[in-house]
Amino acid sequence: LAVAAALALSLTACGQDSGGGGGRDADAEGGTVGIAMPTRSSERWIADGDNMVALFEEAGYETDLQYGENRVENQIAQIENMIARGHDLLVIAAIDGTSMSNVLQQAADADIPVVSYDRLLLNSEHVDSYATFDNHQVGQLQGQYIVDALDLEGRPDESFNIELFAGSPDDNNTRYFFEGALGVLDPYLESGQLVVRSGQTELNAVTTERWDGGTAQNRMDDLLTAHYRGEPLDAVLSPYDGISIGVLSALRSVGYGSGDTPFPVVTGQDAELASVKSIIAGEQTQTVYKDTRELARLAVAMGEALLAGEEPETNDTESYDNGVKVVPAFLLEPVSVDADNYQIMIDEGYYTEADITG
Ligand code: BGC
Repeated sequence: LAVAAALALSLTACGQDSGGGGGRDADAEGGTVGIAMPTRSSERWIADGDNMVALFEEAGYETDLQYGENRVENQIAQIENMIARGHDLLVIAAIDGTSMSNVLQQAADADIPVVSYDRLLLNSEHVDSYATFDNHQVGQLQGQYIVDALDLEGRPDESFNIELFAGSPDDNNTRYFFEGALGVLDPYLESGQLVVRSGQTELNAVTTERWDGGTAQNRMDDLLTAHYRGEPLDAVLSPYDGISIGVLSALRSVGYGSGDTPFPVVTGQDAELASVKSIIAGEQTQTVYKDTRELARLAVAMGEALLAGEEPETNDTESYDNGVKVVPAFLLEPVSVDADNYQIMIDEGYYTEADITG
């Protein structure tokens, strides 16, 4: 469904050049799109960038793809440079969503429309449109996976230990993922069926700066030492595959995954290859598959609409308040994936069999 919606959007946007009131004729002149991505340290952002470059170029644009490599000042400088070079459109996945107000003001002064990509750009009215997945639902899928995997409904008299991890505190998505998951887990935490032995249940106690797997591994090491000597850990809420891999390393180092000590249920996000392989090997338990090809298509369609002076199509005009305005968004649907249904990604051509087995 989401694929069809994004494709339809893309087609609509392509046919829009004659109807734009005040917009330039993008198809005739081409134009340059500045694409600012956060980091190459995670596969997904590489795919996002490559997909957008291919699609924008197919549609007759030039592209300028830059990675900030998780350094906020790099990313700001890259975007300032795109503005100075007179690019016609910006698509930005921010490293720190709150750091962009000045540079977005510069873009507005130069009449350059801005698409917020995957992560919401905060504290600025100069964000025209937001292409993302339903981030709240990502968290709900992770939370529900834990509930089902531990069979909390079927085992009401048993209690299980869980620890919580969240994403980078400067990424607006972090809160949505965490609140989505906690919305599902809260009743079980309140009833005592789920127990967080560390007591670290507030978002600001469990965030992971820059989504860094090593940082998560260190925190998991500390939690295991302080709270799980002789006590089993049954589940870990992890928001992102890179964090899950770090968590699993810490668990492995104290004996989980060998002998009669199975790994806890460990969630994730992005269906990165290392994690898909880990899931098939019975280590990580789940991830959330977000088809970045669809997100790229959506962003390209939004960008083309903006360049044609049209309103991009949106399906959510309520959820994403960036502190100054509610940014009209189009939310794609995330899919929970585990060892039973990872085949869906092969069927959809996201991965080949060889990617996964190789
Ligand atoms: C994205 C996730 C990703 C995370 C770390 C978030 O903003 O929505 O897909 O796992 O950043 O890169």
